[in-house]
Amino acid sequence: MEKHPQKARLDVLRTRCRKARLRVTPQRIAVYEELCRSRNHPSAEQVYSLVRRRMPTISPNTVNETLLTFAQIGLVEVIEGFGSSRRYDPNLTVHHHIHCAECGAILDFTSENLSHLELPDEITREFEIINARVVITGICSTCKKK
Ligand SMILES: [Zn+2]
Ligand SMILES: [Zn+2]
Repeated sequence: MEKHPQKARLDVLRTRCRKARLRVTPQRIAVYEELCRSRNHPSAEQVYSLVRRRMPTISPNTVNETLLTFAQIGLVEVIEGFGSSRRYDPNLTVHHHIHCAECGAILDFTSENLSHLELPDEITREFEIINARVVITGICSTCKKK
């Protein structure tokens, strides 16, 4: 997610908050920035430990609530977590995920082929497709070396 420089990210945050009539607080900025900076689709706990470094007084609950609010206003997406905790994704463009079965990392990738999947009739008969994301599971190079 290093595609968007910091200023562009803040613009996205401001626009979405304004639309939802939410104030752009320092807490919201910090949570959003740390989420965007992390490539790994962090959980609320992970975002909290990142935000705490620059904002020691913030509570885990505030971080959690902020992320849920972001999800409600469509600023971030809640993604499949492969574990107990929800993971958050600030990347709203069409993309797919590669998940490491060992360390739980979830990284983004794009693929023209996967973005134009042909779906079976039984699916398209019953569903209007809104979004298609492929999740691949593997073992990342760091975990493979262990
Ligand atoms: Zn790994
Ligand atoms: Zn993603």
